[in-house]
Amino acid sequence: MQDYDGVIIGAGHNGLTLAAYLARAGLKIAVLERNAQIGGGTSTQEPTLPGHRFNLHANFFMGFGLAPLMRDLDLHRFGFSYIEPLVQQAAAFRDGSCVVIHQDLEATCASLARFSKRDAETFRELHNLYAVKMRPLLVSLLYNAPLPIDQLRDRLSGPEAKTFLSHAEHDLFSVVREYFDDDRIRTLFTSYMHVITTENQPGAGMVFPAIFSNTMSFTLPVGGAVALPLALARIVEAGGGAVMLNAAVEEICTTGGRATGVRLATGETIEGRQFVASAIDAPATMHMTGEELFPEEVRTKLNNWHWGNHSLVTLHLALRERPIYKSRDFDPDIDRAFNIFFGMDDIAQVEQCFEHCAAGKFPDVLMGNGACNSQFDPTYAPADGHSAFWWPFAPYAVDGDAENWDRDKDAYAQRILDVWREYAPNLTADNVRAEFLFTPRDVERLNVNMRQGAVRMGAYIPSQLGINRPHPLLSGTRTPVDGLYLCGSSTGNGGGINGAPGYIAANAIVDDLGLKRPWTPVPPPEWRD
Ligand SMILES: Cc1cc2nc3c(=O)[nH]c(=O)nc-3n(C[C@H](O)[C@H](O)[C@H](O)COP(=O)(O)OP(=O)(O)OC[C@H]3O[C@@H](n4cnc5c(N)ncnc54)[C@H](O)[C@@H]3O)c2cc1C
Repeated sequence: MQDYDGVIIGAGHNGLTLAAYLARAGLKIAVLERNAQIGGGTSTQEPTLPGHRFNLHANFFMGFGLAPLMRDLDLHRFGFSYIEPLVQQAAAFRDGSCVVIHQDLEATCASLARFSKRDAETFRELHNLYAVKMRPLLVSLLYNAPLPIDQLRDRLSGPEAKTFLSHAEHDLFSVVREYFDDDRIRTLFTSYMHVITTENQPGAGMVFPAIFSNTMSFTLPVGGAVALPLALARIVEAGGGAVMLNAAVEEICTTGGRATGVRLATGETIEGRQFVASAIDAPATMHMTGEELFPEEVRTKLNNWHWGNHSLVTLHLALRERPIYKSRDFDPDIDRAFNIFFGMDDIAQVEQCFEHCAAGKFPDVLMGNGACNSQFDPTYAPADGHSAFWWPFAPYAVDGDAENWDRDKDAYAQRILDVWREYAPNLTADNVRAEFLFTPRDVERLNVNMRQGAVRMGAYIPSQLGINRPHPLLSGTRTPVDGLYLCGSSTGNGGGINGAPGYIAANAIVDDLGLKRPWTPVPPPEWRD
């Protein structure tokens, strides 16, 4: 038996963020990971050919420059850095046109104005409001435990705050239609809203400000997404803690209703003297602890957790030459764009794609985004090649059965490549050295808490967002079980690479243990105008 001040289940970036903060607060922490490698959804592997590196899950670290962990943990000193490409995003259409989003606002508005001058001005206003003026509020909302809506309303007042809150009256499509006129621009922004895995439901429009705060701050982790968990693990180890691989937790041990440690699949017990935290999904955490320790309303909700209607199927290509999009004739800046969307030409197709996913059908119109990382960071490919991927939206149980992904893998890969080629005709057989299809079934295999290919450990629907994630009694990371905390993406403010659930848990634990906090916390949300 080994004992530590605290035990954390799961060495994804959230579990490790919590561990690194607590190591800084002087605690000796054990992080237990069931996989043979660190990182969870921040994984980087070479599944095609040596030297061609791919991020199998997260690739776009959105707004990471404002993550408090960057500064509080001196991440650059432990080996983590990122690139913020000057040309951030593009959406290519079948007619050869494209929208290009730059870091530079004027250049972005000039690109949008080719489709609609009014939409360009609307974008400018939304950018100035949410990416500049109200950005500190959005950072505060992300890095503090969610508040009940009445408390939030008390903290936000004035016309801008009213507009901010009014988006919650919309679904994903109506909020975009309200602001933008041009069909292609609407198409881009509705698919963009879906990218963060939001399901189209009434109330889902609430994510609109967060989306517009980040359209121009996408970052690429240098050396692979795995560079982040590796840097965090170094901080844990520097504090005397340990990150243990091949350590699958089967049970969260409790004594007198208090969490005291964990039992591994090997039978070994690891004691957490002061706390146990779980960075895996909330339903699995409850089952490992014992359902009877959770109130009935929590049990009912977590046993009916909605994993989401759509996942992603990724085609990774090891290439000789980078993809060259034919839309470069319309706007050559697409050659320098980092995140590239294509597949959809109008909003009806976007709607249909998500209906097909919800019905378990391989979408008639494939759409999604991708990148060629080696264009921006040469460590992603050998000197004479490139590594690129495209991840269209897809259902988990394709044609009613997730195993169909394995049965027809080559055919699905071919269908995806055929669509990609329509936009980037140089993806010829000569150019493609090797390919690898990572399906929604593989997402779940590599990361068991991304059940049913759940990109965010649970759907983004109003009943599972904010204070409701996963349930009002658990959303602030504390749980009804004394000494047990949640710190993964199914809690707090959700998934995505920002470390927010881990950060929120770190603040709760130092408060509960009465420890001195060697960092300045992100202030609570407040807005008066
Ligand atoms: C295809 C795909 C693309 C994505 N792209 C992006 C993107 O571009 N940008 C973005 O921000 N987000 C993206 N995401 C989402 C992002 O990857 C996740 O939100 C994020 O990785 C979740 O981090 P986490 O630390 O909360 O959980 P995880 O990374 O899932 O970490 C949990 C860890 O717990 C381990 N574990 C599970 N059960 C046990 C157990 N019993 N015992 C011990 N360990 C256990 C798992 O193996 C895992 O390592 C993507 C996801 C997918 C699937």
